[in-house]
Formats: sequence, C-alpha cells, structure tokens
Amino acid sequence: MDDLFLKIINREIPADIIYEDDQILAFKDIAPAAPVHFLVIPKKHIRTLNDLTEEDKALAGHILFTAQRLAVEQGCEEGFRVVMNCNPKGGQTVYHIHMHVLGQRQMHWPPG
Ligand code: 5GP
Repeated sequence: MDDLFLKIINREIPADIIYEDDQILAFKDIAPAAPVHFLVIPKKHIRTLNDLTEEDKALAGHILFTAQRLAVEQGCEEGFRVVMNCNPKGGQTVYHIHMHVLGQRQMHWPPG
C-alpha cells in the first residue's frame, strides 16, 4: 500500500506535527494555501470519504472537533475553512483521508 500519510504517521518522512493522540495526527501542509494550513488525519488507513463506515463515526467527529480546536489555537478564531476532497473529481491527491484547515486570510466561495 503506497500511503504517503502513513509514512508521516510512522515517522518515515518528516512533517511539522502540531497534534497527536492515539487516533489522529495533525501536521502542516507542505504547500500551504493560506498562512495557516494544516491537515488532520486518522491513524487508521481510510482511502477516501466514500470508505467511511458506521464504525468510523466517532473518529470522524474527533477529527472535526480537533480541527476546530487547533484552528483556534493557531489564531483562526475569527474564521477558517475546513475541506475534505474525495476522489479525483473532488480534487483528492493523497489517498488517506484528511481534513484541510485553512485560515488567516479571507476565504471566498465558491472555490475553484
Ligand atoms: P488533497 O489534494 O488530497 O486534498 O490534499 C493533499 C494535501 O497534502 C495537499 O495540500 C498537499 O500539499 C499535501 N501534501 C502532499 N504531500 C505532502 C507531504 O509530503 N507532506 C505534507 N506535510 N503535506 C503533503
């Protein structure tokens, strides 16, 4: 299985990690699209949002809750954006689910 983010979880490639617990990891995006841009991922390998199951509900909630808490910690309490891309048509490039958190600049809608 070629999973780039599993390599980050296993410390096989470096990343700027900002949070970790037994279930999830958060680290800065290597190509930030905003002054604050980090990713929150489960340690469990889940390829896409389409692969989420009933048993992942609490994990998905934990990712969202932690994204919010870290966004505020990173100074984004005035506003931020969370994004999850699913499959090529959704703009996904890394096949281990991740929540993008972007902040510290004005966001616009709709995105491209
Ligand atoms: P996607 O396009 O799948 O929603 O987002 C993948 C994200 O992972 C992109 O924003 C990309 O910059 C980021 N990324 C890709 N490779 C690496 C890496 O090796 N390290 C880190 N920290 N981020 C990465």
